[in-house]
Amino acid sequence: MPLKKIIKDFKELEYEVNKDFYIGLKDGQEPHILFIGCSDSRVNAEALFRAKAGELFQIRNIANIVPRKEIADTNYSVVSAIEYAVNVLNVKSIIVCGHSNCGGCSAIIHPEKSKDSLPYTGEWIKQSLAVSEHVNRKYPDMSEDEKLVMVEKLNAIQQLDNLMTYDFVRRKFESGELNLQAFYYDIGAGDITVYDYKGTLPDPECGCEFHLENDECVN
Ligand SMILES: [Zn+2]
Repeated sequence: MPLKKIIKDFKELEYEVNKDFYIGLKDGQEPHILFIGCSDSRVNAEALFRAKAGELFQIRNIANIVPRKEIADTNYSVVSAIEYAVNVLNVKSIIVCGHSNCGGCSAIIHPEKSKDSLPYTGEWIKQSLAVSEHVNRKYPDMSEDEKLVMVEKLNAIQQLDNLMTYDFVRRKFESGELNLQAFYYDIGAGDITVYDYKGTLPDPECGCEFHLENDECVN
C-alpha cells in the first residue's frame, strides 16, 4: 500500500474514529509494562496484550537481547530505554518475549552462517552464544528443531539475568516493585508460556533454576 494512503487512512479511519482517545494521550504516557521483544514482524505486542497505544513501552532488537552491564557501558541504546522505563515511567513489569522460528536464535546456534554476510548481526548475537553452548552441552541428543526451541526459550530467560546486572533493576525487583518475566510465544499455535523470575532463572525443562554456568540440576 502506498505510504500516502497509509497516512491518510490512519488519520481518517483510526484517529478521527478514536479522536478523544488520542487527544487523551497528548500530554504523557503511563505504561505499566516494558516489553522487550525480537524485531520479528510476527511478534505483535499490542495483539498479544490486547493493548492500545500508551500501554506498552517497547524495546525491539534481533533475538530480544538485553546487553549485560559490562557490555552496555559502550552501547546505550537498550539500557537507556530500560532506565527510562524503570526510573521515570515506573513500570511494574519487564517482559522479555522470545518466539518460535526466530532467525536471531538460529544465528545464535550457527554464528558461522552470519559472520561474513551479516557482520553487525554476528557481533550482536555474540552476547547470547553462551545460551547455545549451554544447550549443546546439556541436551546433546536434541534435533536441530528441538535445539532451536530450547535456545529461543532459554535466551529469553537468560535476559532476565542480564537485566539483574543493573543496580536500578535489581533494587526494584528486590523491593517487590518490579516483576521480571520471560515469555515464549509459539506463533503457529498462538500459545504463550510464562517463566517467572524469582531470584533464580527458571528452567523450562525441569522447573528448577536454569544453570548457564553450572549444568548440574538441583532436582
Ligand atoms: Zn526473533
